[in-house]
Amino acid sequence: MPTLMLTELLPGAQTICPICNGRCYPAGDRSGLPRRLRDMKVFSPGRIPLNPCPTCGATDDERLIYLYLLHRTRAFEPTAPPLTILHIEPEPRLYETLQRVSRVSVRSEPSSQLPSLEVDDRSVDIVLCNDILDRVRDEAAALRSIRRVLKTDGLALVQSAVSSTLPATHEDAQLTTDTERSKAFGSALRVRLYGADYAQRLASAGFTVERFRWWRGGRRFGGALRNRYALVRGEVLYVIRPSTGHSPSGHSPSGRIGGEKLSPVP
Ligand SMILES: [Zn+2]
Repeated sequence: MPTLMLTELLPGAQTICPICNGRCYPAGDRSGLPRRLRDMKVFSPGRIPLNPCPTCGATDDERLIYLYLLHRTRAFEPTAPPLTILHIEPEPRLYETLQRVSRVSVRSEPSSQLPSLEVDDRSVDIVLCNDILDRVRDEAAALRSIRRVLKTDGLALVQSAVSSTLPATHEDAQLTTDTERSKAFGSALRVRLYGADYAQRLASAGFTVERFRWWRGGRRFGGALRNRYALVRGEVLYVIRPSTGHSPSGHSPSGRIGGEKLSPVP
C-alpha cells in the first residue's frame, strides 16, 4: 500500500494540473456553481469552469478525462497501435493535447451533428462526448450514433450533469425559455437533468456501463485524500462500451452496469 506523507495532506500542499504540470488551486470551491445545482448535488456541472488550471485553463472535468485516457486507455502509450478518437464539441485543452499525439487521429464534430454523424460504422476507438447528452433533444439517436461509430472494443466517455438527489431523470419538453430551462436543469442549454437512472438509460441503449470512481484509482489519479490533481470529489466518470448481443433495433438485451470494472481498453 503506498505511503502518504503527512505533509501531502496539509493545506497548501502542491496541487498540479496533469495536462501542463502547472500549479492548480486545491479543489473544493464550488461557490461558482449555480445554487440549484449545489442543492441538487450535481457533481459534474457541465462546462462551468469551477477550478480551471491557472496556466492552461483545463477544467476539473478535462483533468479527470485526461487522467482516464492516460492511465486507463492506450491513447498516450507510445508503442500502442494508432487510435481514432472522435471528440464531440471538444474541450480546448484536451483536444490540443490529443492532437499532439502523432499516433492519435482526432476529429471533432459539433454536438448538433451527434444524432446524425457522418462517420463510418465501427471506425472509432474512443468517443469523447462530455456535457453533451443532456443538451441533445434526441438522446436515443445520439446514443445510437455513438454505438454505431464505435469499434466493438471501443469506449466512450459520456459525462453529463447527474443529480444524486433525483431518483429519475427530469425532462420536460414544455420548458421552452432559457429561464425555465435554467431553473429546472441548472443551465439554459440543457433539455434534461439526469438522475439516478443515468447509467440505466445508457445500458438500455446497448452499452456496458462502468462507473469509474477516481478516488479509488490510487496515486495515478491523485489519491483519495491528497487529490493532487484537484478533481471534483464525488464525481463519477461514466465509461460506456458497446455490449455484445445488442441490436440497434432495441429488441435484444440491454447492456449491463458495472462498478469499477477495469477491463481491457483500446
Ligand atoms: Zn494546466
